[in-house]
Amino acid sequence: MRTKAYQLVAWQQPAELREVDVREPGPGEVLLKVGGAGACHSDLTLMGIPPGFMPYTLPFTLGHEAAGWVEALGPGVTGFERGEPVLVYGPWGCGRCKPCRQGSENHCERVSELRSHGGGLGRDGSMAHYLLVPSSRLLVPLGSLDPRDWAPLVDAALTPYHAIKRALPQLVPGSTAVVIGVGGLGQMAVQLLRAVSPARVIAVDTSAEKLARAKDLGADATVRSDDRPVEQIRELTRGLGAELVLDIVGVDSTLQLAAGVARTRGQLAVIGLGGGVLPFNFFSIPQECQVVAPYWGTLPELMEVLELAHAGRIRMTVERFPLEQAAEAYKRMREGTLKGRAIITPHG
Ligand code: NAD
Ligand code: ZN
Ligand code: ZN
Repeated sequence: MRTKAYQLVAWQQPAELREVDVREPGPGEVLLKVGGAGACHSDLTLMGIPPGFMPYTLPFTLGHEAAGWVEALGPGVTGFERGEPVLVYGPWGCGRCKPCRQGSENHCERVSELRSHGGGLGRDGSMAHYLLVPSSRLLVPLGSLDPRDWAPLVDAALTPYHAIKRALPQLVPGSTAVVIGVGGLGQMAVQLLRAVSPARVIAVDTSAEKLARAKDLGADATVRSDDRPVEQIRELTRGLGAELVLDIVGVDSTLQLAAGVARTRGQLAVIGLGGGVLPFNFFSIPQECQVVAPYWGTLPELMEVLELAHAGRIRMTVERFPLEQAAEAYKRMREGTLKGRAIITPHG
């Protein structure tokens, strides 16, 4: 079968909608009819990377957030039925090393041999009518949730959840968490914090619209990044700062802000790939504050965020785009005019 796919063809060039062949699933593989493919800001970063930087072979189809319906099972695959709605766990590791066996394929030990991080990240991803998933171990049944709306659980929700979970022991009553950048990931971070911790949540963004949305999604306070953010957050925390700061932008100014509002013995998680630099010495961050760079999340954590979605504890703000308008979705992302997550819905 020949269909369309949105592919990265050359580094530092816009991705292109191209005709591709869809092959039958081989042994162990599953063919998915794509319901929704989330557009992530990391894709924009990826499209701008110079040649020779990533170990990926071009071309490949973009899209590392996928949900859809099982279309066909390869020889030997059991446990799923045609038409069943599923999420696709995004980091595709070797499936054999210890982290993979623990469900942490985001930390696969053979990632350099694989020369990819998953579908849409070196291998063909979900911005296409069909996605070939290398193994049924990567599928999570979605149950009653619509794949056209919930693909962002795979990254926009899972990534901040992973970062929040490792900081949970510190998020006791009376604690504060700051979320810098309340776009796709940040809007989920605000809700996840509210769902799993009693921490007070402060959202920071450059955009008043994004802050209004964060407030609507449960943020206790909002601060514009151009309006004395360090002073405001210090005032809100009795001068002590926040136990957890999630920097979901990662440019120089947000890293500086994060270090300025993190608390002694707190945690500063740099999730954004903005490429900024945080000067590090004894005096530049609060004493015994941990600075971490969390990457994506585990399969069991994906099942946990799915439970929160089923329980109605998190909502996804989505804007749907047909496959032909994938470029428009990224344009809106670059301009900062998306309301939440853009989802490509190839089958309408
Ligand atoms: P997005 O475009 O949906 O949202 C970005 C938000 O940041 C927007 O609301 C924007 O207004 C805000 N913003 C931009 N500059 C700002 C500034 N200086 N101060 C405050 N707010 C600012 O992006 P997204 O898809 O949510 O991705 C966010 C970041 O997370 C990206 O850098 C992406 O590459 C990264 N990411 C990292 C991982 C990981 O595993 N570490 C996984 C997924 C995404
Ligand atoms: Zn992503
Ligand atoms: Zn592995």
